Amino acid sequence: MKIIIFGPQGSGKGTQADILAERLNICHITMGDLLRTEAKSGSELGQKINGFINDGQLVPDEIVLTLLKERVIMSDCGLGYILDGFPRNLDQIKLIGDVIKAEVALEIWISDEEAIRRIIDRRSCPKCGAVYHLKYHAPKTLGRCDKCQSELMIRDDDKEEVIKKRLNVYHQQTEPLIKYYQDQGIYIKINGMPSIPEVTKEIFAKLKLS
Ligand code: AMP
Repeated sequence: MKIIIFGPQGSGKGTQADILAERLNICHITMGDLLRTEAKSGSELGQKINGFINDGQLVPDEIVLTLLKERVIMSDCGLGYILDGFPRNLDQIKLIGDVIKAEVALEIWISDEEAIRRIIDRRSCPKCGAVYHLKYHAPKTLGRCDKCQSELMIRDDDKEEVIKKRLNVYHQQTEPLIKYYQDQGIYIKINGMPSIPEVTKEIFAKLKLS
């Protein structure tokens, strides 16, 4: 099964994608993580990617597509995947063509005010990529990753002025995909404002999963 999950920054799509991937035994591909891993590698390409991410802009399509095409053919994607963070604009969905024919496109909706509130309190582990929230999903030891004990950080692109820019990019470039998915008959809208278990319940109900 191939699922696209999208929503504004802070909508909880990554958390819900993890839960859904485990339930369906498919892999969860996070485009932002693929790009951040390349950025951290220190390669020339990585440095280029870093510049776009830290400025709140989208990374050029050809770079994103190359990384994604390498990822979807890996063995853990054999039963399908949930794509989180791709496609982010109409060009990307057209460019990828038949490689990605999703059966479902899930939008996790939250308001902009809620997105900003949530992201400001987000803390990330620079080593293993785990994500925490100071109120809703706090680490067991303040400032330390539960999984690898590294010191948690605020991502550069999670600072307030960059978040506002990223939300604008989302509204202008990613939201128009809704009409595309509606025309394909694969669009499902989920209210992302309630608690994590409540949102999961709505997703499972709409996908007819127990
Ligand atoms: P995310 O963690 O999903 O918000 O992604 C962080 C950043 O990675 C974005 O602000 C973009 O700079 C970049 N990025 C992630 N996915 C894509 C994509 N599909 N196309 C272009 N840039 C992307």
